[in-house]
Amino acid sequence: MSRIYNFSAGPAMLPEEVMKKAASEMTDWHNSGMSVMEMSHRGKEFVSIAEKAESDIREIMSIPDNYKVLFLQGGASGQFAAVPMNLLKGKVGADYINTGAWSKKAIAEAKNYCEVNVAATSESDKFTSIPDESEWSLNTDSAYVHYTPNETIGGVEFHWIPDTGRVPLVADMSSTILSRPIDVNRYGVIYAGAQKNIGPAGLTIVIVREDLIGDEIAGTPTMFKYSTMAKAGSMYNTPPTYSWYIAGLVFEWIKKQGGLEKMGEINRNKADKLYSAIDNSDFYNNPVDKECRSWMNIPFTLAKPDLDSRFLEQAISAGLVTLKGHRSAGGMRASIYNAMPEEGVDALITFMGKFEKENA
Ligand SMILES: *Cc1c(COP(=O)(O)O)cnc(C)c1O
Repeated sequence: MSRIYNFSAGPAMLPEEVMKKAASEMTDWHNSGMSVMEMSHRGKEFVSIAEKAESDIREIMSIPDNYKVLFLQGGASGQFAAVPMNLLKGKVGADYINTGAWSKKAIAEAKNYCEVNVAATSESDKFTSIPDESEWSLNTDSAYVHYTPNETIGGVEFHWIPDTGRVPLVADMSSTILSRPIDVNRYGVIYAGAQKNIGPAGLTIVIVREDLIGDEIAGTPTMFKYSTMAKAGSMYNTPPTYSWYIAGLVFEWIKKQGGLEKMGEINRNKADKLYSAIDNSDFYNNPVDKECRSWMNIPFTLAKPDLDSRFLEQAISAGLVTLKGHRSAGGMRASIYNAMPEEGVDALITFMGKFEKENA
């Protein structure tokens, strides 16, 4: 059985090279006689794996020394609660930018802990745009401003970083982290579930500026305190060791590809190709404003929705899987993270052209 092109939004494709390496080390890591899965997280072997992964992500993202990188569990969804718990610091409210389904989930969870000011929303145009920054009604007394740089379901992405002055900026980067270079200095907290662009599910990366750590609201679970995890090197309890190891192999792979500058070029090119194919046809449509189309998740509809199931069936036969759009959006969605090779995008475009010819 050969590999197929998997357009899943997450868990998503991983670089084949990474999985082959993991497979070759599966039962005996570096002559230790053990699988990484069997190692004590406090043993010297795993500690070396963990430290290498951290230093590699610091290098590829140019993470400044005054930021901690935490390797946690609980998913990005856990961070929807952890962010207010760790960052409120005596304030009563936080600002949220609502650009779609994941923003909404973050807002709903934050409401359990604080007053949420939705400073801007694109709900009125069905989340196909990003509200202009000049129209945001930010509250200067907010504890932080939260936004979702890439909406995985709607396919809407910020190609710029909001300016929130002295108020810390918090970003749910689950589906866009490592897709291009970003200036970490502009953020208070960056968090991401691993299963899109980092590695296997079960790992959550949090990058947090040190001065924001250590003043949690009363009742914050120990496991959710950035201070506990920062002090313990993310090993207060047993971390997700195997996911951490695979993430480390992915970071090495990114370095080998030429780092985030190169990933950004490749990703932009892949996305441009697919959007051109969609825009140049009368059969396919992507509803998102051109300035904020995602490089990672590309939703599209067919002019005749009753052909959706035929499209999906024939796509599978062509080795192109998991193209069905999110249940809330319908239509199709192609997720093309770092591990999706350009050939996969080309194969999709060829298939779409052929399907259009035969069915339009
Ligand atoms: C997938 C995703 C989530 C949910 O992540 P979990 O790790 O499953 O909790 C949250 N936000 C965004 C933007 C996502 O893409």
